[in-house]
Amino acid sequence: MISVSVARERIRYPVRISAGLLHRAGDVMLRAAAPGPLLVVTDRTVARLHGARFLASLRRAGFTPRVVTLSPGERSKSFARVRDVCERWSGWRVARSTPVVAFGGGVVSDVAGFAAASYARGLDWFVFPTTLLAQADAAIGGKVGVNLRSGKNLLGAFHHPRGVFCDPDALRTLTPRAFRSGLAEIVKMGIIRRPAILNQLRRFAESGGISGIAGLIRAAARVKAWYVTRDPSDRGIRQQLNYGHTVGHALEASYGYGRLTHGEAVSIGIVAALRMSVRLAGLDPADARDIEDLLRSLRLPVRLDRAPGARFWSAIAQDKKRGRRPLRMVLSPAIGAAKTYDLPSLTALRGVISSLVQKP
Ligand code: NAD
Repeated sequence: MISVSVARERIRYPVRISAGLLHRAGDVMLRAAAPGPLLVVTDRTVARLHGARFLASLRRAGFTPRVVTLSPGERSKSFARVRDVCERWSGWRVARSTPVVAFGGGVVSDVAGFAAASYARGLDWFVFPTTLLAQADAAIGGKVGVNLRSGKNLLGAFHHPRGVFCDPDALRTLTPRAFRSGLAEIVKMGIIRRPAILNQLRRFAESGGISGIAGLIRAAARVKAWYVTRDPSDRGIRQQLNYGHTVGHALEASYGYGRLTHGEAVSIGIVAALRMSVRLAGLDPADARDIEDLLRSLRLPVRLDRAPGARFWSAIAQDKKRGRRPLRMVLSPAIGAAKTYDLPSLTALRGVISSLVQKP
């Protein structure tokens, strides 16, 4: 017998959250990489709103950024776009030592990270996330990948970035819809692990401004880092972060990518998970209603306008976390706790989904 032994990878990287950081990108990168070529991946909206100052800062610090710009939105999260990015890099004869910089929302970091994981079997990469969703969640943790028609994130890899650099000021240009989407993932962090975040969110909803947002990003990023540190390759406890995503991902896939934002789908998925938790995990119904009220006050959707059809149920069946069991779902026996349940059938979920369809 021949055995191969790979010493456990030691992974450690900073998540910095600081106002104005985008315009100090060059100095930030100088602490992490030697000046020279950089492969920036962004999308058209982010490039138009923030690109000039970001790139100018990199150039001032001695970097020579080469930029690939994606179309904005979930449809860019495809294997075809990853291939395009890699073809461009190959055309530029990129050396294996050239770092990648993802500059955008969760779509950009998932695509750029996957391209970085794949090209020449792995380039170092850094993220400057520019959406709330990416700063609070998606940019941290090294899960990168793209969608297939049959399901979200079915093609992917683990490839941790070397640093995550969040500028809350960048969020000022987000559309209200994109901003709200990020709040859904922060609600999730509160439910599964840190109920204090839910109170923070209630105060945030009452205040109406975005002044408390840096504190919320920090709190959510801490929860994400806690899970990733304990389970970097998502084999155990980190799967709790899928709370609300079994239904959320199936909604995204069945409605057509981009019709519902990821955060909107997760918001409805959270309500489904809460109701399943009441039925099967002993969650107090009053706690479930409180969270639903919170989602409503954050102006996130909590109902479906029509019963999802066959594509939804086949996306549920495709859920890659399911394995051989009929359904695996993360539920919350109490607020601040989460546990994975293997459900013997879809009966309870069918009931919950029909309870979410808004009566005309
Ligand atoms: P996104 O990247 O599509 O961004 C939303 C929209 O905001 C886009 O149109 C984008 O152009 C625009 N935008 C980005 N920054 C902006 C800015 N500062 N000002 C104005 N507009 C800006 O979507 P998202 O919500 O950031 O991320 C969603 C994706 O993240 C989904 O594909 C989801 O599956 C993925 N995700 C990944 C992880 C992970 O661990 N890898 C975790 C959660 C979610």
